[in-house]
Order: sequence, then C-alpha cells, then structure tokens
Amino acid sequence: MNNKKLLRLLPSVDQMLRKPEVAGLIEQYARVTVTESLREILQETRDRVMDGGFDESATATGMEEGIVEALAERLRRKGLGRLKEVINGTGVVIHTNLGRSPVPESAVADLSRLAGRYINLEYNLQRGVRGSRHDLVRDLVCGTTGAEDCIVVNNNAAAVLLTLSAMASGKEAIVSRGELVEIGGSFRIPEVMEQGGARLVEVGTTNKTYIEDYQKAIGEDTAMLLKVHTSNYRICGFTDEVSRQELASLGRKRGIPVVEDLGSGILVHLEEYGIVGEPTVQDSIKSGIDIVTFSGDKLLGASQAGIIAGKSKYIKRIAKHPLARAVRVDRLTLAVLESTLRIYAQGERVLDRIPVLNMLTIPVSTLEQRAERLMELVTDIKAYAKVTIEKEYSQVGGGALPLERIETRVLTIEPKEMAVNELEKGLRMAKTPVIGRIVRDRYLIDVRTVFDEQLPVLAGMLIGVLSGGDGS
Ligand SMILES: *Cc1c(COP(=O)(O)O)cnc(C)c1O
Repeated sequence: MNNKKLLRLLPSVDQMLRKPEVAGLIEQYARVTVTESLREILQETRDRVMDGGFDESATATGMEEGIVEALAERLRRKGLGRLKEVINGTGVVIHTNLGRSPVPESAVADLSRLAGRYINLEYNLQRGVRGSRHDLVRDLVCGTTGAEDCIVVNNNAAAVLLTLSAMASGKEAIVSRGELVEIGGSFRIPEVMEQGGARLVEVGTTNKTYIEDYQKAIGEDTAMLLKVHTSNYRICGFTDEVSRQELASLGRKRGIPVVEDLGSGILVHLEEYGIVGEPTVQDSIKSGIDIVTFSGDKLLGASQAGIIAGKSKYIKRIAKHPLARAVRVDRLTLAVLESTLRIYAQGERVLDRIPVLNMLTIPVSTLEQRAERLMELVTDIKAYAKVTIEKEYSQVGGGALPLERIETRVLTIEPKEMAVNELEKGLRMAKTPVIGRIVRDRYLIDVRTVFDEQLPVLAGMLIGVLSGGDGS
C-alpha cells in the first residue's frame, strides 16, 4: 500500500470528535483542549505515514484506536491547566520564557489572601474617600530608593513610553548613540521614542560620547536628556560615556529634566557576590537623575511592572497623562509588588527571601550539596545513563549583566538507551516539565535555578523518562 492510500485511512478531526470515547474526554478536558491535542496527534500520525511507519496491515479502525489512545495519554500528561509549574534546569535566573522572576513566598501568601476578595485598591480607609492605587507602594519605593515620588505601570516598556509621552511629546529628547538599544521583543529605544511623540536627537558615536556632545545638541525644543542603561550588551575597549552626575548637573544648569531607563532596577549591591556593573536605583537617584524607570520582575524579583520614580513635579505630570490609565498596574501585580518591596524595606534576610537574589548569590558549596542530593535521588537511573556532577556557568538572564558567568554545578546525563534529544523532549513534555540544555550530546541540569522542594519531583521525572516511562 502506498502512502497516499494510507493517508486516506486517517480520520478527520470532526470524525474523531464524534466518537463516544472522545466525547468522554471532551467532558473531562473541554472541547478546545481536546481539539488542539487531536490536531497535533493527527499531524504526527500523518508524518509517521510519510516516514513509512505503517505497513500493509494498517486499517482505518486500527489507526483510529491508536489515535484515541494517544489522545487520552496526551491529555492526561498535559493536565488540566495550560500554565503549569516547570522546573528550570537552565541556570538562567531571570528566564524570560519561563516567567522571569519567581516571586517571594510571602508575596504568594499575600496574593492568595487578597486575590479573591475586595481590597482597598483605590479607597482611603482612614478618610473614607477615594484613594489612589499609587499610594499603596509610594512610601516603600521612596523609602528604599530615595526618590520623592513614584507611580507603577504595567511594565518598564510602558514606563518609558509614558514618561516620554508625558514629558517630551512634540519636543526633542537627546540620547547618546551608544545607548540606542534594542531590548528584545522589538522594544527599540528609537521606536519607543517615536511612539512617545518625541524627536530623537542622537549625540556622540557608538563608543564615545562626551558631555560637550549633549551641550551642543541642547536647543529651544529640548525637553529631556535621556540615559539608557545598556543592560543587554557592553561596549568594550576604546570607550567613553557621560556619567550620571555630569548629565544630571548639565540638566540642572539648563533646566532640562534628566531621565534614566535603568532596565533591571536592582535595589541591593551584589558586588561582594561577584555581580558587578548593574547600577542600583538608589545610585541613580542619588547622582541627581530626575526620573528613573525600571522593571518589577527583573533583578527586583517581584511581579511584571514598571516603576517610574523621581522628582515629585515630574511624577505628577506623568500620572496625569491620558496614557497612564491605559498602562495602569493591576491589583494582583500591585499586591505582589507591595509584598516584595516590604522585604527590602524591612531589610532582613533580603537575599534569602527574594528568590532571584537568592539564586544569584547562592554559594557554590550549597550548589554542590544540591547536586549531590539530586544525584542520590536518581541512583536508580545509573542503569540507563551515565550521570556526573560538573562545574559549569550560569547566566543572570533577562538581558541583565550579559557578560556575567557565575560558577555553578550541573548534573550531566548521558543516556545509554535513548538519544539525548529524546531525553530532552521527554522531560519537556513530562507531567512537571523540566527544561535543561544539551551540550555536546549530554543533557545538563543546572541546579542553581531548581528549588530544593522540586528535587524529588525532578528526580521522579528523570527516572520516569529514562526508564522508558513518561515521567509521571
Ligand atoms: C528590560 C528593559 C526594558 C523593558 O522592560 P520590561 O519590564 O521588559 O517592559 C526597557 N529598558 C531597558 C534598559 C531594559 O533592560
């Protein structure tokens, strides 16, 4: 039988959806979910036909039975929700694809207490009148960073857009050529400025910009001097950039506000842990910058948000702009942000309690112990794979500190009976998905980004997949 004839034996999605066994699955998992998985399986079966995976003996009934079985299995494995916990074995701490920052436990507790109830989001309980959602975190942000005032929006991209729209629309904003960055996901500074209605005036060159370059470019229409932290790349070698102090003092002298897009927005110094080159928000404010913008879910370690902090008169103007309503922060985000900022404000065990900071500063000896514990938990896989603990390097991720390589420990797995990409796929599709990486035909799990509580689950998935099960 040729492939064409075999393909004709395959049922359509509609035919399958009408089968009583599939109706049972629809009741359990919802129609859209079943249809989606069914399409995947039909496509895979078609591919198998083309690869010669069926022979003369194939029948329509046999194929349909196989599809129903595979469908039930896939749905069971996917579980009920689309969003699920995954185990990050990549060692990339701020992993954009995996939700960036896991939030602190205390923030999770606060969120679960508040999310399902009414809250005083915009209600002043003391005075019994309407309040502002921005009041909820103002003292925390200002107390920690030294800023006079702040507002919180959806994300840092929105913070930059709103700031430009409110302060430089129809006017000029001066930026160094060395800072015209693309952050990823098509967030490019020149394009954001265009959206914000500001005319971009580029000064200096890619590798060198001097204060005189800014001075010369200032004209009647200049509404802002903008500094952008080049978080995701470094210009090395023959370079010069204007310091924050210099730029702030020029702005003060000429009566022009100076804005800095900091990107990551770290609130603590991590130099003693070998993490250098990321300016803190308080450093920026202290050097005289009028407005700083930064993310809530990069090195700050809270929820996705953009924080605009600085001089009160500018913050007021920004808060009044019509776009502020379009990009305003929602209550769940705010609850997590408030809770996380409280940890910084209290100042106790900050590095322990904020997961991203914990992962970045964890001693190698602790990573070694974690790797050994995992090794013990997977003793059973020795028959199926060669397993070792090795030294490797983790990354900060999220576009922050691109050159930073932090020493870590990885579990390396060299399967004996399956291809390494089969192992990778099996773990990725497991009940609790595990995301690792393949380096020279070995599968690597960086234990830096694996939570201790996840170790037994991770071991279970590894044993399941390697021993030919599915990790559940
Ligand atoms: C990450 C980043 C942004 C965008 O922030 P989001 O929170 O992802 O919206 C903007 N500017 C800089 C310099 C960044 O590093």
